[in-house]
Amino acid sequence: MKLSITDHRRDIFEKKYVYPVVSRRAKGLSLGINLNTNNACNWQCVYCEVPNLTRGKPEPIDVDLLENDLNFWLKEILEGDFLAKHTEPGTMLRDIAFSGNGEPSACPEFGDVIDRVLNQLELNHLNEKIIIRLITNGTHLSENYVQTAWKKILGKKEIWFKIDSGDLEKIKIINQINLTQNQIKKNLESAIQISPTLIQTCLIKMNGELPSDDEIQKYIDLIKPHEKKLQAIHLYSMARPSEQKINLKIERLTEAEINLIADKMKSLNVPISTFN
Ligand code: SF4
Repeated sequence: MKLSITDHRRDIFEKKYVYPVVSRRAKGLSLGINLNTNNACNWQCVYCEVPNLTRGKPEPIDVDLLENDLNFWLKEILEGDFLAKHTEPGTMLRDIAFSGNGEPSACPEFGDVIDRVLNQLELNHLNEKIIIRLITNGTHLSENYVQTAWKKILGKKEIWFKIDSGDLEKIKIINQINLTQNQIKKNLESAIQISPTLIQTCLIKMNGELPSDDEIQKYIDLIKPHEKKLQAIHLYSMARPSEQKINLKIERLTEAEINLIADKMKSLNVPISTFN
């Protein structure tokens, strides 16, 4: 079986915490770490591809098992024939990404997990060769345990910070969470303090409508004060179907529609990459 960008199931290789995926935005193979094995998240995004998603916190992590899983996959990829068997020619391991079935930074053992990941990078001579990424909705980034944990990473790292809209009313609908401008600002500044940070924005059509010009302007206004400190903005749409039951028709944008929105954001002094 070949991995593809349209199949990100976490369970096809029977390891609890670590799973390989081919990622369009990581531009290669990504080893995902799932800290939310109970499918619990503090948000409930309408496009979320996690089956049986519930609101809540992650269950306790078995950090020994997690490190064993990571060691297994690194050996398969670096010393075995996994890449040749399961990916297209030329695919390379690009990152280790905290990207699971919920918000990874909600995990109280986050610091211990980072220690184990750093240990495996050291043992497998991967320091400075691959990047550690945190794919996050940002809600716990100002908390001490996350700040302390992320600062331990002295090599390559990035935080991919989710902002799907600049309009708080739209955030309520898309992410099903009540946020204030100040909370978003505080979380984003907390990310920027500890890491190179980029914004990830999943664009969707709701009941046939694209994000309006007014909504795009609110997004620009939200990002503008931070633009000099951001690495990039990733604009994309759903790659896989939503697993959520919602009373809303949601659809992915075409490449041309994403590019049109990117064009409307060009007053932002941040590199914008689009993915289709
Ligand atoms: S933040 Fe991520 S895991 Fe949580 S509901 Fe949204 S898309 Fe799903």
